[in-house]
Amino acid sequence: MDRLVVVGGVAAGLSAASAAKRLKKEEMNAVVFERSGYISYGACSEPYFVSGLVPQPEDLIEVTPEEFERKRSIPIHRRHEVVEIDYKNGYVVVEDLGGHRTFREPFDYLMIATGATGKTLGVDGEELTGVYTLRTVEDAIAIRDSARHAGNVVICGGGYIGLEMAEAFVSMGKHVTILKKTSQMLLNFDPEMSALVEEEVRSKGVEIHTDTDVLSFEGSGRVEKVVTNHGEVKSETVLVAKGALPNTALGKQIGVEIGATGAIAVNKRQQTNLDRVYSGGDCAEAYHIISRKPAYIPLGTTANKAGRVAGENIGGLNTEFPGIVGTAVSKIFDLEVARTGLSLKEAEREGFDAYATTIRHRSRSKHYPGGYLITVHFITETGIRRLLGAQMIGREGVAHRIDVMAAALQAGMTAEDVYHLDLGYAPPFAPAWDPILIAANKARKG
Ligand SMILES: Cc1cc2nc3c(=O)[nH]c(=O)nc-3n(C[C@H](O)[C@H](O)[C@H](O)COP(=O)(O)OP(=O)(O)OC[C@H]3O[C@@H](n4cnc5c(N)ncnc54)[C@H](O)[C@@H]3O)c2cc1C
Repeated sequence: MDRLVVVGGVAAGLSAASAAKRLKKEEMNAVVFERSGYISYGACSEPYFVSGLVPQPEDLIEVTPEEFERKRSIPIHRRHEVVEIDYKNGYVVVEDLGGHRTFREPFDYLMIATGATGKTLGVDGEELTGVYTLRTVEDAIAIRDSARHAGNVVICGGGYIGLEMAEAFVSMGKHVTILKKTSQMLLNFDPEMSALVEEEVRSKGVEIHTDTDVLSFEGSGRVEKVVTNHGEVKSETVLVAKGALPNTALGKQIGVEIGATGAIAVNKRQQTNLDRVYSGGDCAEAYHIISRKPAYIPLGTTANKAGRVAGENIGGLNTEFPGIVGTAVSKIFDLEVARTGLSLKEAEREGFDAYATTIRHRSRSKHYPGGYLITVHFITETGIRRLLGAQMIGREGVAHRIDVMAAALQAGMTAEDVYHLDLGYAPPFAPAWDPILIAANKARKG
C-alpha cells in the first residue's frame, strides 16, 4: 500500500489525490490536509460571492469533503496545516488548528499543492481591520461583511482580480477608488488594450489614480484612510490586490528547487527535483509553450491539469503536461477581456523580433440586430509571421474567440494559417469575415 500525502485541498491538490486514488484504488492511501476551513472552492467565483450574485459560501464549493470521503475514499482534514516535512524519514508534521494538537503523517509520495498567497504592500497599518487580500473563502466572507458596512472602498492594484472586485463593490453601491503604482492597468496587456478597460471602469464611476504609491493605512483599530504620495483617500474597506505569491516555504525547507520565477520548479510530469515529491498549481511553475521557458501564470485551469498529471504519475502512469500559453479571460463590468500568449512587451523581453497589429470589427453580421465592435490585437513574429499572442476586448463574442487563438498558438500557427481557418459563420454569431480572420489578414501583411 502506497501512502500519498497532499498538502492543500483545492484545484491542484484534489485533482492529484483523485487521479492517484482512481488509478491505484485500494493500493493507494491518499490523505489531504487543508489549512483553511474549506476545500475544493472556486476562488474564481469569489468576486460574485462578494457582490451577492453567488449567495452562500457553500455555493463556491465544487465537491464537498463528504463526497471525497464517501465516493472517492479520500480522507479530508480541514483546518489542518502541514508545518514541517521530514523528507528523509518520510513524514509530515501536521497541526490540527482546531484541536490544537500536532501529529505525524507518513508518506511514500508527497504532493505540494500549497497554492499562493495574496501579495501585500509591506506598509504601516496593513494589519488594521478592514484591510484584506483575497484568496480563501474566509477572505471573501470577511471582505463581503466589511464592504457591506463601508461607504468607500479602496483597491490597491489594477489586475484582473482588482477589476472584477471593483465591479462587485460598485454593484453593492460603494464608492470605489483604485490605486495603481504604474501608469497602466492590466500590465499583461499592451497599453492600447488596457486603455479600453480603464475607460470602461472609469465610465462606471470608479476613480482610478495611476502612478500612485500607497505609503500607509491609518485608523484606530479599523482602517479609515489610505495615505499615498498624492494625498489621502477615505476608505472603510481596502482590498490589496497586487498579485499572487507562490507558497514555497514547505518545499524550500526540504530542498525542493525553486525556479527563476520564484515558484517551485517541476518537469512535465510535475516532479520536483526530489524523488516522489510532486507539485503543481499556484505554488509551481508551468512550461510556457511560446517562450519555451518555465513561467509563473497562476490560473485555475492550469492547477487542475497539473494536479491531475501529478496524480496520474503518482498512480503509475507516465503522463506529461505539455504546458500553457497563458490564456485568461475576465468579465470587467460590461466588457469581456481576454488574452493568450505574449504581449508585445513580453515578446520583446523574451527576445522575439515582433510587431503588433490591431483591428476593430463587428461581433455579428451587420444585417442582424445587436452586436458590438470587438478590438483584436495580434502579436506576430517578424519574418516567419508566427503568432505569439492575441488580446481581445468587446461586449460580446470575446470569450469563445480567444479560445480559437489559444488553440492556434498552441499549434504554432502563422498569421497566414489563422487567416485560412474555417471558422463558423451565421449572422447572430459573427460576420462572414470573422474579426479573427480580419485580424489575421492584417497581421500576415506585417
Ligand atoms: C479572486 C480570484 C479570482 C480568480 N479567478 C480566476 C479565473 O477566473 N480563472 C482562472 O483560471 N483562475 C482564477 N483564479 C486563480 C485560481 O483560483 C487559482 O489558480 C487556483 O485556485 C489554484 O489552485 P491551487 O490548488 O494551486 O491553489 P490554491 O487555490 O491557492 O489552494 C491551495 C490551498 O493550500 C492550502 N495550504 C497552503 N499551505 C498549506 C499548508 N502548509 N498546509 C495545509 N494547507 C495549506 C491553502 O489554504 C489553500 O486553500 C482566481 C483567483 C482568485 C483569488
